[in-house]
Amino acid sequence: MRCEEIQEMLPSYVTSEDSLAVRRHLARCEPCKKEVSRYQELGRSLSSLRGVHSEPAQDLLPALYAIADPETRVAAVRTHLARNKKTYAGVAVAIAGAAGAALWRSRSGRRLIPA
Ligand SMILES: [Zn+2]
Repeated sequence: MRCEEIQEMLPSYVTSEDSLAVRRHLARCEPCKKEVSRYQELGRSLSSLRGVHSEPAQDLLPALYAIADPETRVAAVRTHLARNKKTYAGVAVAIAGAAGAALWRSRSGRRLIPA
């Protein structure tokens, strides 16, 4: 197989390593071996992000609870995040998670913020 064909298969190869053709090619092709190590490095970097947890700003939850309707709360957060994607990049998921938790808690009847 040609390098171009092999390199198209590398993203899936790095996760499963189940292709004999790719394995054989990598054993004798230095450029493709370097390419696969780039994918592996990227995979490690992305995996390390899984452990990253950032706390939402202190005034976020009170601001969310100030919106009476839980559905509107989540919609407000989603709309804000969608409009400011670049600003939030990495923390968007954490913020969306906090909004989701706020929705779930209010559905279960617990009040987190005293009236
Ligand atoms: Zn190659």
